[in-house]
Amino acid sequence: MSVLDRFRLDGRVALITGGSKGLGECMAQGLAEAGANVAITSRHLDECRATAERIAQATGREVLPLQGDVTNEADVQATVAATLERFGQIDILINNAGTNVRDATLELSVEDWQRVLDVNLTGCFLYAKAVLPHMVARKYGRIINMSSIFGVVGFPARSPYTASKGGLLNMTRTWALEFAKDGITVNAICPGPFDTPMNRPLKNNPEAYQAFVSRIPMGRWGQLEELASVAVFLASDASSYITGAAILVDGGWTAQ
Ligand code: NAD
Repeated sequence: MSVLDRFRLDGRVALITGGSKGLGECMAQGLAEAGANVAITSRHLDECRATAERIAQATGREVLPLQGDVTNEADVQATVAATLERFGQIDILINNAGTNVRDATLELSVEDWQRVLDVNLTGCFLYAKAVLPHMVARKYGRIINMSSIFGVVGFPARSPYTASKGGLLNMTRTWALEFAKDGITVNAICPGPFDTPMNRPLKNNPEAYQAFVSRIPMGRWGQLEELASVAVFLASDASSYITGAAILVDGGWTAQ
């Protein structure tokens, strides 16, 4: 097998949470371009269907749109069951769905704190718990958790986001250890700022946008394809000896 063939995902099946837009959409497209069939979940089925159709047409792969909230265990189990029913296997899980609240700590409500932890942390646990038994049975799996630079360093007015992304990083290491002998790798991606719907409030505020740019040694935000290629790497056999790792995709933010 040539080195480039090790990046191919032909015959693989991926399940990506929050795959209808933003980084989830671009990773779904990237994995499909590399040959995988993909299931994408979203709370909004119409949006999910439109994205699935677009990626399927662009790549010639099968893309299955599924409705589900990552914080609802019944939805998690139903979307995993639907993926297995359609494709017969799940090789790759990308825990991508995430949310953010940018309130100063003293203004933050307990409800907002809890919601961010529920989506960013508990949602990942629920999906891993639902998918891992199938991966263990097949002795193969790739789990990719979407953490953040804010899982590695702090930032003002990001209490629940930094807590959840830091927790997700260490949970990644725990799962990597727990399933290392089962042919399953578990890794995290830690992006810096990318232009997605989640970041529109920053992108549309010139001062906040520049404040972020000024902290990035490369002097610019990330481009979506710069994230998709890292996801393909971690989803493929090219990364077969990497587990428990956090890949920083941040233009140097955390190198300072
Ligand atoms: P986004 O808001 O553009 O998309 C997030 C996706 O998650 C959407 O499809 C949304 O519908 C889905 N989602 C949110 N809550 C959900 C729930 N309860 N159930 C199911 N789906 C839900 O965000 P994004 O920027 O594409 O971010 C994707 C992931 O990458 C997130 O985990 C985010 O924290 C992380 N991240 C993003 C950036 C960035 O710059 N965009 C940087 C670091 C980390």
